[in-house]
Amino acid sequence: MTIYNFSAGPAVLPRDVLLQVQAEMLDWHGSGMSVMEMSHRGKEFMGIAAEAEADLREVMGIPAHYKVLFLQGGASSQFSMVPMNLLRGKAGADYLNTGEWSKKAIKEAKRYGAVNVVATSEDKNFSYAPTQDQWKLDPDAAYVHYTPNETIGGVEIFWTPETGSVPLVADMSSTILSRPIDVSKFGVIYAGAQKNIGPAGLTIVIVRDDLMGQTVPGTPTMFDYKIHADNDSMYNTPATFSMYTAGLVFKWLQTRGGLSAMEKTNREKAGLLYDTLDATDFYSSPVAQGNRSLMNVPFTLKDAALDEAFLKGAQARGLIQLKGHRSVGGMRASIYNAMPIEGVRALVDYLREFEKDHG
Ligand SMILES: *Cc1c(COP(=O)(O)O)cnc(C)c1O
Repeated sequence: MTIYNFSAGPAVLPRDVLLQVQAEMLDWHGSGMSVMEMSHRGKEFMGIAAEAEADLREVMGIPAHYKVLFLQGGASSQFSMVPMNLLRGKAGADYLNTGEWSKKAIKEAKRYGAVNVVATSEDKNFSYAPTQDQWKLDPDAAYVHYTPNETIGGVEIFWTPETGSVPLVADMSSTILSRPIDVSKFGVIYAGAQKNIGPAGLTIVIVRDDLMGQTVPGTPTMFDYKIHADNDSMYNTPATFSMYTAGLVFKWLQTRGGLSAMEKTNREKAGLLYDTLDATDFYSSPVAQGNRSLMNVPFTLKDAALDEAFLKGAQARGLIQLKGHRSVGGMRASIYNAMPIEGVRALVDYLREFEKDHG
């Protein structure tokens, strides 16, 4: 039976990538070593790292005046690293609050400075994102932080905020690489790898050169972007195997036509799923039309008493990890780049059939 894994993260990886990892597991390119066993300062791994960075730069169109950092500590560490590096003597920063991950970023930033919440969608249980005309930006803010895709709530922002000369910072953990973006509009972009990039353990940070080198006093060495930039992400031992696998994912994206092609497929996949949910009142999507995530699709059954039967039936068909986040309940289907459209079709078929049997 084919298994389709709808986990929000760690998540499905492209099968071709896993097969290549398997083929190269014991002996990478005649080196006699697994990538896991290589010195991060040896010529083999230095080559792997340089190629991964070059490929990511190509895929995302990252301008030369941005550094790409391969760090650890997850997106959660960035909740602290962002204020530590970007406050640069200013009193505080602007944050948009669209859900669980925004709230965590805000909570952490408050340890270092004042947080001005420019807008919040808490009034409607984080089911939409306030448009920019509703934001109250502070012209003196050190930066503006937002979460373009709230992984738990399934709320995505498809436009890029205009913040003038104030740097824009985005937690792109669950939307990076799903569609093209204009990197030059951002000061910092960060993402944990385990959603749409590769294995857990790697965190990618894309940071504009002029935003480094002015950390708040007491910032640990490991939390200083400039230290990592000056050392090509090798100040300490990086997550070598995750970097290697992420590099293979970047090549996979290139062979599939890059991010425009990804967006096309992702829109097709998400469209199929939302259309099916909308076609009946047996299921419902809690998210406002204009903010429905292409990557994470939460939905509920009209009768929550059927949840368990739904999950059991799904599991029996190889449709796994569909249980919603513990904080919201219901279901959630994460359909990242690596989820083939066949997986979404299988889910849609099951949705219709379950309704027929229980509706
Ligand atoms: C998963 C996730 C995080 C947390 O990532 P970790 O790598 O576990 O720290 C933060 N923000 C968003 C948007 C996420 O999806």
